Amino acid sequence: MNSRIWMSLAHMGGREQEFIQEAFDTNWVVPLGPNVNAFEKSLQDFLTGNGESGDGGRSVVALSAGTAALHLGLILLEVKMGDEVICQSFTFAASANPIAYLEAKPVFVDSEPDTWNMDPVLLEKAINDRIAMTGKKPKAIIPVHLYGMPGKMDEILAIARKYEIPVLEDAAESLGSEYKGKKCGMFGEYAVLSFNGNKIITTSGGGALVCPCNDTAGRALFYATQARDKAPHYQHSCIGYNYRMSNICAGIGRGQMFVLEEHINRRRVIHDLYAHLFEGMKGVRVMSQPEGGDFDSNYWLTCITVNSNEAGFTREDVRLALDADNIESRPLWKPMHLQPVFANAPFYGNGTSEHLFEIGLCLPSGPTLTDEDIARVVNVIRDLQKTNS
Ligand SMILES: *Cc1c(COP(=O)(O)O)cnc(C)c1O
Repeated sequence: MNSRIWMSLAHMGGREQEFIQEAFDTNWVVPLGPNVNAFEKSLQDFLTGNGESGDGGRSVVALSAGTAALHLGLILLEVKMGDEVICQSFTFAASANPIAYLEAKPVFVDSEPDTWNMDPVLLEKAINDRIAMTGKKPKAIIPVHLYGMPGKMDEILAIARKYEIPVLEDAAESLGSEYKGKKCGMFGEYAVLSFNGNKIITTSGGGALVCPCNDTAGRALFYATQARDKAPHYQHSCIGYNYRMSNICAGIGRGQMFVLEEHINRRRVIHDLYAHLFEGMKGVRVMSQPEGGDFDSNYWLTCITVNSNEAGFTREDVRLALDADNIESRPLWKPMHLQPVFANAPFYGNGTSEHLFEIGLCLPSGPTLTDEDIARVVNVIRDLQKTNS
């Protein structure tokens, strides 16, 4: 049997254990401490370009998960029970679940075909329709940069500004991606990062909320640490959460920051290698960023679409052939409006995400893959075409 090729494995740079050791040596084995502070500072510098951006900077709060960051982001945007929140349908369930945690109502919006992210035309249609139906504006908009590809942020932000609805940007998959020279995570009022095991960098599990200023970051920290009022005893006037990142996890994150650029470069090289190796193969298309230089994806995962009429095989044929060769792959995210749990949520669609879900596949893309691994993946698919023709 061939050795297993995984979709996206974590890769340690080497300094992670040094920072964990430091936490043990100084007895900072708690959900705060020097690693947490240093990791936050380093993320902030990465996003803002060392604080030199003209955006008045950002303040990053490290949390136990990206999902926790989405939850706190919605709380800080004052989303309450019964409010509507617009969310990209084509995404991982973690983008939408926190809306339900607050007993608010998700309203799903389909994608456009260029970036696979929120369709600005449908977004505006959804806003107008919700206002007509309920007499109330949606409380927030959650666009996602799926698979690392930045969404059409100029158009989305213009609509958000026009209707004065804040944006909670889900940048969980897009650390290091840029749109018009600006990093993903810098576009929304708030933005969410994830450091789960399969993401661009990992803390084993973790996330962060990117806040617009120190005050809002302070609010996020307050809610993330059980909402304690200022008092010598434990006093609470709000419901709090236990969402802070531990100093051990942050040690891993600090170490990972040293290999972040390397990871992004490798994922981009892997995408380009796939694109090159698939050249001329009928019916198989590698998802690539729109031309013109506005979109710079980190290519977290390289995805293909299979036109079965041209290819002579289906997406599912590809997945099963790869599996038989001990290669992990996965269909694209199943859109939220097709998920049983969100069956009753309003949806504004154009067929894009449903179609992509049927014909799309994520290929192995982790930084530990070799060029030979990539060639093996492509050869399995090439052989499928040979057998069929
Ligand atoms: C991973 C992911 C999240 C959630 O992050 P966790 O750290 O796993 O909680 C949210 N949104 C998207 C699009 C993701 O891919």
